[in-house]
Amino acid sequence: MSSSLVVPFHRPSVGEEEIAAIADTLRSGWLTTGPRVAEFETAFCAYTEARFAVAVNSCTAGLHLALAALRIGEGDEVITTPLTFCSTVNVILHARATPVLADVGADGNINPQRIAECITRRTKAILPVHLAGLPCDMRAIRELAGRHGIAVVEDCAHAVGAQVDGQRIGSFPPDQAGRKGMAAFSFYATKNMTTGEGGMVTTADQEAAERVRLLSLHGISKGAWNRYADRGHWYYEVLEPGFKYNMMDIQAAIGIHQLRKLERFLELRARYAHLYGELLRGVEEVELPPTKLDCRHAWHLYMLRLHLDRLTISREQFIEQLRERGVGTSVHFIPIPLHPYYAGFPGEARGSCPAALSLYPRLVSLPLYPAMTEAQVEYVAHAVRAVVRASRRQTRVSVAACAAT
Ligand SMILES: *Cc1c(COP(=O)(O)O)cnc(C)c1O
Repeated sequence: MSSSLVVPFHRPSVGEEEIAAIADTLRSGWLTTGPRVAEFETAFCAYTEARFAVAVNSCTAGLHLALAALRIGEGDEVITTPLTFCSTVNVILHARATPVLADVGADGNINPQRIAECITRRTKAILPVHLAGLPCDMRAIRELAGRHGIAVVEDCAHAVGAQVDGQRIGSFPPDQAGRKGMAAFSFYATKNMTTGEGGMVTTADQEAAERVRLLSLHGISKGAWNRYADRGHWYYEVLEPGFKYNMMDIQAAIGIHQLRKLERFLELRARYAHLYGELLRGVEEVELPPTKLDCRHAWHLYMLRLHLDRLTISREQFIEQLRERGVGTSVHFIPIPLHPYYAGFPGEARGSCPAALSLYPRLVSLPLYPAMTEAQVEYVAHAVRAVVRASRRQTRVSVAACAAT
């Protein structure tokens, strides 16, 4: 995020409203979980059309709590994608369950056919990730989960605002099969909306929501977690050893304003993604990120795919040359099995994911965020075209064609 770049990879969109809200919260004398968290949860329920929402201090914490609330533990298997951030897999290990990696499809999301092949008697949940904000094939995933009586815990870190079949991600309307559905969102600094650090769990399952809330604050019984309120009481009971995963009012104060701005953020992201598409279409050395017709893409990331066989440079050189032109980029993600820790896993966790491993060397995420200007999007696209032009591989076919004329 060097300021010497013409277009840094990311810049957050926080304004005077957020700054004033933080100051108000600090002056109110109530810093940790309190009235602003409650207000943020209510607003998030209204936005996502979820029945229950519990604010936590990260998406990672939310995913861990969702697995814990579903009583997933030792001896259980959870199927997830190899093309994700490490925390998706870490939380399965924190729950003392076994991660099983099901390979991705052409869209980069977990492939339902590969999930079906991974299901065993020990499988307790599927943990899909809506990569870049593009929804997974939730109809197929819910159908599989319903048929096998297993839970679905969605990693919605990229996907706040995304929709499938006209339904918001995380809404879990009653007509959907698979009652055991939970979703975790991220409000990390780079995500579609931010609280600096923060997260939210949504579900339609009241018991699961209550367990997430209980476990998010030490396992202290309900009604006592506001024991410092004026009319609160000192007495509380610990019902089980929970975690310290609660969100602060300072974070919620930011989140309330970010949520109000979210639709505008998402419109800008979609507009810029569309503009990249127009400016890069026809450049044969790159493949545009996948989209789908029956859903709303949240466009958290613009994951370009290089056709390395048509270029004389590697992905690393491509990134370096874009940097020289003042454009910051990133790579999402290093596949799970390539990390030293997970590479050493016994058995299923190692998995077999040729599609993710062959996609990985081709991936470069371009800057995409509402604080960009249209001129910056054009600048990035022109930089990509310039780098590609200078590194175009002359194919045999074109040489032969030249010789023939
Ligand atoms: C960012 C991210 C997370 C973790 O979110 P935190 O709020 O930082 O815990 C989880 N999964 C994916 C896919 C992410 O990109």
